[in-house]
Formats: sequence, C-alpha cells, structure tokens
Amino acid sequence: MPTVEYVGNMHSHTLYSDGTWAHRGVAEAAAQAGLDYVIVTDHNVWVSGVEGYYDKTLLLVGEEVHDCRRVPQANHLLVYGADRELSPWAGDTQQLLAAVRKVGGLSFLAHPIDYANPRVNEGSYSWVDWDVSGYTGIEIWNYMSEFKTRIPTKLHALYYAYFPLGAIRGPFKETLQLWDKLLATGEHVIGIGGADAHGVSYRLGPLKRVVFPYDYLFSAVNTHILTEQRFTGDVASDKAIVFEALQAGRCWVGCDVLGSTREFSFVARSGSASVTMGHELRRHGAVTFEVQTPQACDIRVVLAGRPVGRAKGQSLKFTTAEAGAYRVEAYRSGKGWIFSNPIYIL
Ligand SMILES: [Zn+2]
Ligand SMILES: [Zn+2]
Repeated sequence: MPTVEYVGNMHSHTLYSDGTWAHRGVAEAAAQAGLDYVIVTDHNVWVSGVEGYYDKTLLLVGEEVHDCRRVPQANHLLVYGADRELSPWAGDTQQLLAAVRKVGGLSFLAHPIDYANPRVNEGSYSWVDWDVSGYTGIEIWNYMSEFKTRIPTKLHALYYAYFPLGAIRGPFKETLQLWDKLLATGEHVIGIGGADAHGVSYRLGPLKRVVFPYDYLFSAVNTHILTEQRFTGDVASDKAIVFEALQAGRCWVGCDVLGSTREFSFVARSGSASVTMGHELRRHGAVTFEVQTPQACDIRVVLAGRPVGRAKGQSLKFTTAEAGAYRVEAYRSGKGWIFSNPIYIL
C-alpha cells in the first residue's frame, strides 16, 4: 500500500490573474507553511517556464478555466497536468473537459456550490452545467469560497483577518451531499481541497489588511496525497508522482491549521486484501475499515450521506458486508478537520 505522504495546496493565483504575488513569492509562502507542493491555477492563463523547486517546495502550474463572457459567472474548472493553454475551450464545458482528457490532464469542478454574498459584493461562482461528464472530481472545500459566504459585513472580513479560524467551519453540507450523490452513481469522483489564495486586501476606511496572506492559507485547507515513491528532486518525475496519486484519489483534505493532519490513515481489509482511500476492494465476506487520526477527534465513516460508524478519539474500527463508497469525516472542536476520499467496496 502506498504510504509516502506529501502535503500540498492545489488552488492559488498569482499576478498573472487576480493574485497579488508572482510565482516565486507563492512558492516561498508555501515553503514557509511547510508544503511539499503547491499548484498555481491562474484564471484562463497557463503560464509555462516557472515549474520547479523553490527551496524544498515543488511548484506546479495548472489553470482555472472559465468563460469570462458568461453572465452570470459560473463553471470554474481546475485543470492540472495538461501542460497547455485550455482557455480557448472555456465557452463549452463539455468540450473543455474532453480537451483536458485528450491530453491526459485532470479536471476538478472548482467550488461547485458557491454562495453569493451581496453584503460584501461577492457573487456566486457555482458549477451549473451538470449534464457534463468526464471530470476527475470536485473541489469539496475551498477556503476563500467558504470565508466569503460566512462573513456578514466587510468589517467582519477585517476582524477575521486577525482571527482567521473564526470564519471557517468545514466544507458546505450541500457540497458533501452533492459529492455523495455523485458517488452514488458508482463513478469514482475525487475530492480535493484548496485555499483559492489571492493575497487580496480588504479596505474599510483607514483599515486595510490582507485577507488572507498566502502563507496563512497554505497552512489551512490542504490536499494530502499518498504515493508509492519518494520525490527525487527531478521536476518531471515528481510531478508525475503527484498527479498519479490525485488521479487515483489517494488523498484527503485536511485543515492543518486546526492541527496537522499528517499521518492520517484510512484502510479497508477483506480476506487477505487491503487497500487505502481511492481504491476498490472486492468483498470476501466482511470488510473491516480502520481509521487512525494524528490527534483525538470525532471520527465518522460515511456511506451514501449517512454516518454508519462513529468514534471519539484517535482510532475507529468498523465492520460491514455492504457495498458502496465509504469515506471518512473527522471534526475537532466542532470544525471540519479531515475529509478522506472514499474506499470503493464492490
Ligand atoms: Zn474560481
Ligand atoms: Zn480560484
């Protein structure tokens, strides 16, 4: 079973779209936050020639593609590993998804449920083209999308810039329900999380503060991957290692600012076979799930939107004979902490 763990952030913007820093600054902030990899996803621009190691952090470049002429705005797609400009397909989401797939890239529906907040002049950027197919997964937790929904006024935005944990609770319940609905079709739908870091400032009269800085956001909602091989320092091969794990769904979303989620583990065993998240397991009689968390928390095993196993502490063991996509949620102090990808029991 792959056991090498890397932590990264999959959603950030630079000066090439509406972020405030260049690639080097973003990579340095990621290194400062202790990330192993960070992926820049500028709006409708794929920037070449900047991928590489900055200190010990691997910076990769994807793209957030959407139709700028669409009114209202919707359908933001995160594209990884395509290594080419894909915004010419932005006008037709199914053609865009097909173009990504054709070149071996991965695609994730960004902030698929995104709420408008007119009190702070923020619109909704949900995914609306639900008749499409062929995407890799969905972004189940986007820090800035959650933040903008939860703030009642601009003054609160400034307040939370000083006390950032107050503004977040976890993925939207509706997004998790949507994920379970998509999983119920039998398809593999990979869940990822990200910062959507821009480093933008909010201003209220004389008060101005960056909400939130890149380094803070890179210590919050991250995507942890499990790989078979260690990074070698070679950009092309390490990049392939990252995308192979993501494509397999061997990953979980962790809010590391609530306590590092490194070393979380979720495995299923049946007969002599055992697998970790992202994988399928054929039943030979009963299936036993084992969950380990790095700190005490409220652990739930979820099947089709229902918690079927629950424990408080650092471990959970759960046995079943029922097929389905089982995933784990863990909460600390009432806030969402860990959201695993499913293990698919056949
Ligand atoms: Zn977006
Ligand atoms: Zn974005």
